[in-house]
Amino acid sequence: MAKIILNKSNYFHNLKLAEEKLGSKDKIAVVLKDNAYGHGLIEVSTMAKEYGITKAVVRTIEEAERIETFFEQILILADTDIHTYSHTFHIAVNSLEDIERLPENTNVHIKVDTGMHRNGISIENLEEAIHGLLRRKLNLTGVFTHFRSADELSCEFFWQRSVFIQAKNLIKSLCEKLFITIPKFHSANSSALFRFKNYEEDFARLGIAQYGYLETNSVFDNPKLKPVMSLWAEKIVTRELKKNQKVGYGGKYLAKENMKVSTYKVGYGDGFLRLNAKDTYFTPKGYQILGKVSMDNLSINCEDDEVCIFDDVRSLAKIHDTITYEITTTLNPNIPKEIR
Ligand SMILES: *Cc1c(COP(=O)(O)O)cnc(C)c1O
Repeated sequence: MAKIILNKSNYFHNLKLAEEKLGSKDKIAVVLKDNAYGHGLIEVSTMAKEYGITKAVVRTIEEAERIETFFEQILILADTDIHTYSHTFHIAVNSLEDIERLPENTNVHIKVDTGMHRNGISIENLEEAIHGLLRRKLNLTGVFTHFRSADELSCEFFWQRSVFIQAKNLIKSLCEKLFITIPKFHSANSSALFRFKNYEEDFARLGIAQYGYLETNSVFDNPKLKPVMSLWAEKIVTRELKKNQKVGYGGKYLAKENMKVSTYKVGYGDGFLRLNAKDTYFTPKGYQILGKVSMDNLSINCEDDEVCIFDDVRSLAKIHDTITYEITTTLNPNIPKEIR
């Protein structure tokens, strides 16, 4: 069986860097959507709580319910199908229609569209939204936005920031006029947080950086994060491959001399994206994955009883022409996890 080991001291190291940047643990909201980017919702919540984190962000109500006791505040990004009141839950309102759907007394965060144009309420509709919240007796507890290119060197980041400042000012003046408590404001994800010189909002939504990665352009002064997850696999069997014999589907790996080869219990069925024969991938110990990866196993030129397949997914992200987020998030949620 494959196994994921989560390195707690690396996790705490990454949170510490964010804490130093923000000035307080209370300003970190850990983003745990999609099974904590494949790291395990419960396992990461356990570590975050132990560190002293009080806020989390998830995608669905179902995720929020599973971790309700771990945090004081949970922001739910994309699910308005809520039927019972929870003091802990705060629901993101992504459109004027969402306002009509939520039950009375729900805590809501308005998502402002500052330029990503994916979801969110535009500045022109903010006043209508606030009146809608009052009419429906919903509690405005937060207002936020999301950057579309915080990881790239472009002026768009600054443009969206200035739009959000406008939105904040508008919200503040509406709240004063209508005697509503001023809500919490937040805009930064991982890459944005580390680009701000002084981030003065109420909290940041820390996703990928807590897991040890940033996709930010290397021209920025990036923090020295440490990957949290490593993937391990147990050996099934070792055999000798004779010179000129081939291994695996399509026989894509040819032994240049007699060699020992072992199969290990992990494959693309576990969400370890399929390497084909074109890719040369080496494990952290320098062993090579030979030929094509099968659904439930793969072959490696080693004899160890257990092998570490990766402890840093950046090289795999490169091979698969994708981002680190996708490599960890696609791992099968059923892979057992161990915190060390
Ligand atoms: C996923 C997500 C984040 C976290 O982004 P990272 O780049 O992983 O830090 C923050 N905010 C919203 C709205 C998200 O959907």
